Amino acid sequence: MDNNKNVVYRLGSNCELDDIVVGNTYEVKVQGFAKFGTFVYLNGHIKGLIHVSNVKSDHKEGEILYVYVNNIRDNGNIDLEEVVVKGNYEVKTQQCQKSSTRLCDLKNKVGRNINLNAEVAQIKQTSGPTIFTLIDETGSESAAAFIEAGKRAYPEVELGDMISVSGEVMMRNGQLQIEVSYMEVLTDEEKEQVRERIAKATEERAKPQDIPFLIESDVLEKLKPEMQKVAQILRKAIFTNQPVILRHHADADGIVAAVSVEKAILALIREEGGDMDAENHLFKRAPSKAPFYEIEDITRDLDFALRDNVRFGQKMPLILMMDNGSTEEDEASYRMAKVYDLSIVVVDHHHPDKSTDQYLQAHVNPYHVGGDFGVTAGMLGAELARMINPAIEDDIKHFPAVAAVGDRSEAPERKKYLDLVEDKYSEEDCKDIALALDYEQFWLRFNDGKEIVKDILNVNNNTERHKKLVALLVKEANLAIEEQLKTSLPHVKDSIIENGSHLFTIDVEMFAHRFTFPPPGKTSGEIHDLLCRKNEGKPVVTLGIGPDFAVIRSRGVLMNIPQMVRELREEIDGGGVNGGGHLVVGSIKFVEGMRDVVVERLIKKIGKFPVE
Ligand code: MN
Repeated sequence: MDNNKNVVYRLGSNCELDDIVVGNTYEVKVQGFAKFGTFVYLNGHIKGLIHVSNVKSDHKEGEILYVYVNNIRDNGNIDLEEVVVKGNYEVKTQQCQKSSTRLCDLKNKVGRNINLNAEVAQIKQTSGPTIFTLIDETGSESAAAFIEAGKRAYPEVELGDMISVSGEVMMRNGQLQIEVSYMEVLTDEEKEQVRERIAKATEERAKPQDIPFLIESDVLEKLKPEMQKVAQILRKAIFTNQPVILRHHADADGIVAAVSVEKAILALIREEGGDMDAENHLFKRAPSKAPFYEIEDITRDLDFALRDNVRFGQKMPLILMMDNGSTEEDEASYRMAKVYDLSIVVVDHHHPDKSTDQYLQAHVNPYHVGGDFGVTAGMLGAELARMINPAIEDDIKHFPAVAAVGDRSEAPERKKYLDLVEDKYSEEDCKDIALALDYEQFWLRFNDGKEIVKDILNVNNNTERHKKLVALLVKEANLAIEEQLKTSLPHVKDSIIENGSHLFTIDVEMFAHRFTFPPPGKTSGEIHDLLCRKNEGKPVVTLGIGPDFAVIRSRGVLMNIPQMVRELREEIDGGGVNGGGHLVVGSIKFVEGMRDVVVERLIKKIGKFPVE
């Protein structure tokens, strides 16, 4: 017998019994001991025996040995002999190109033993077995491995590893599961091949179908490639078991945008075989009070993500920002997200700052293609949701119309989306839904109000309850607005500024109810709307002034609020000015002691802008 082979083979994880070559030397791993010899693994699922007479020395479980293949018997038993390889030799992986089992095939293999390669997407220790969530290019399934109750099985296998696993396919509580008999991390060589294969195929599967938009729109057509990119990123996150945190502005437009995508993603998770548990750990929607990503928000999100990462062995999340996220004010939080390498994508219609894009993986914004805020986040969100999962279209068809009236869009898209659903929802109905959302979100504060919001939007298959709820909320909201206007209108001051436009100011701290609906921004907006109607055809600016902030509403004045904020910050030393928003609707913050200086300067600047 020739024991001086200069090549030692490592049997690839796809290889089967008949790939083993008699006369070759293989690298193997000790699995266990019996009276008649030592059992070793040639790869993740093929076991052989070194007869006691062919064992050279004492071994430990898990030890790596070299063996010579003496014979493969008809019954499949492999006779091995331990060898010591002398001189120069190299270790080569024997690749077997057989198509191995894919995760999507498991449903046809219940009760059978399988072997496959996959990526570990989550590792969760239960009080019983360790549950590994596995993904490949076709889907995701779980595998249970047990050594001892509550003890981590295969501690050498880590999140993100490429593994070879064998075991029996079982049904557990209606869910497929692999009962693991053996699992091992692939060799570097194999790992790269499998990683590449899965990544490439997942990328391909994540590509959204090219479907036409609900309406005709130049702006949407131009935004299509970037929207498809975002849809692909989100689909890929779901296919690879990466959690998504969706942050959105807490107004009707932002809610509608976010709920569209929420519906699409949850439906996709269910299609992928996920349950309630998966829905809750893979997706979280959270409204942001401010129209930007506050440090408080990112801190909550990071805290949440890191806990899940440690406790449930979960991947770090992808962050999706909707109806906010595109301005300088978001950047402090983005820098924090970057410490943890989080990916961020934005779907917004606020006037974007160029510098913000350095933090973003993708950014859909009508301003990028010559559009403006009239194509609202809710319109973009609904169209994006259809790209992610076309099946939900009927549920969300009326969302863009609600967003359009909620954000007072004057773009041509507004009418088209309203026309699309006019048989079911009148413009009045859409306005009511938008107001009901605003009113309810005020009381929900930081909560997403998942089911209540679905009732308001009529996606819970209970139209009667939807109608009752919206009617009630609208009545309450209008009563509150009426009361607020009755109280504050007598205190509104009227003047004409340099450019000839009306300037109405109201001190919302002194002359409006506080800590109730409508809050200062909406109070100023309601006053503005009323005074616009009284001054038909004239340019109107309304300032709602608080102790350390001012809300700006305007009509017929071509102003640029973000630009004014930047200038005031530069010009007023010690003013602590910041803020932003849309070009003609927004807010400014400052320190209380500098209020008079800032407001006076702000009014001067507004007076310089041309009127329409
Ligand atoms: Mn909006």
